[in-house]
Amino acid sequence: MARKRSTDETPEALTRLAHLYLYDEPEAPGLDVDYLGRYLAAVLPTCEAHPRTDFLTHHLARFSEEQRETLGEQLLGQFQRARVDNLAPPGLRKNLPAEDPTEAGWDEVYDGPSLQAVLHLLIPPEESHLSELHLSLTSLRLGLWPAADQSFRLSPALFGEPNLLSLTSLLEGPEVSREYEFMRAQMAMFGLEEGLEAVEDRFAPRMLAEGDPRLNEVVKGLLLQAVFYRLFGEAFCPGPACRLHNATTQEELLEAQTGPGAGLCERHREWLWAVEGAPERA
Ligand SMILES: [Zn+2]
Repeated sequence: MARKRSTDETPEALTRLAHLYLYDEPEAPGLDVDYLGRYLAAVLPTCEAHPRTDFLTHHLARFSEEQRETLGEQLLGQFQRARVDNLAPPGLRKNLPAEDPTEAGWDEVYDGPSLQAVLHLLIPPEESHLSELHLSLTSLRLGLWPAADQSFRLSPALFGEPNLLSLTSLLEGPEVSREYEFMRAQMAMFGLEEGLEAVEDRFAPRMLAEGDPRLNEVVKGLLLQAVFYRLFGEAFCPGPACRLHNATTQEELLEAQTGPGAGLCERHREWLWAVEGAPERA
C-alpha cells in the first residue's frame, strides 16, 4: 500500500512498536485472538503480533510448580485487595454512605489500576519496553475512579502495562437505550415472558450481548485505542465513525465498530500511515 505523506498535524510517535502480545480470555465465547492477531499484523505490518493464552497462565508458566503455588497465593491476596466493595468517591467517603457494588448489579468488580499494578510485575524485563505492547483481554469486570470526588465507573480499557481490556465492562459499560430499559421493565412487571423475548429480539441488533458474533469486531476498536495511546498518547476520537470513538452507548459502540465501512477516520488514518501502518479503510 502506498504511504501518504503525513500532514503537519500528525504528531510524532512517542515510540516504535516491535511486538504486540495479545492475551486470550478462554471464557469469552466467540473471542478469537488468532483472528485479532492477524488483524493487528495487517494494520501494523512493521510489528509482530503474538497471540497467547490468558495472561496469568502464560506468565506463570515460566515458574516451577512450587513457585507457582506461592505466587498463586500472593496473587489471590492481591486480587482480593483490588476488589471494590464501595463505589463512593474516595475523597468524599467521610460524608457519603457506602455504595455497595451489588446495588449496581455487579457481583464482583475490580479497581483496574490496582490490578494492572499487580499484573505488571509478572511481565519479564525483556518484554517490558515501550516497543512491547501487552494487550490482555479479560472477563473480569473492571473500572476506576476518574477522580477522587467522582464515583467508580466501569471502564472497558485500562491503558498501561499491561493494557487491560475488559469484555464484561464492554458489555455493561456503554448505556443501553432508554426505550429498551422501559419496555423491558414493563414486560417484567407484568410477567410477560414472551413479551420480554420480543423486546430482546427487537433490540438485539442495537446491543452487544454475551456470545455476540460481532464481539471480535468491537474488540478491534479497544486494541487500536491501546495502540494509539502508546504511540501518540491519545486513545480516543470524537468521530462517531472512527474505531477510536469512546462510545457511551451500545448503539454508538456498534456504529463505530461494526458494519462494512468500520475503520479509522481520515485524521487517524494519517497518523497510522505516519508509523508505516496500513489502515483497513485506506
Ligand atoms: Zn478518529
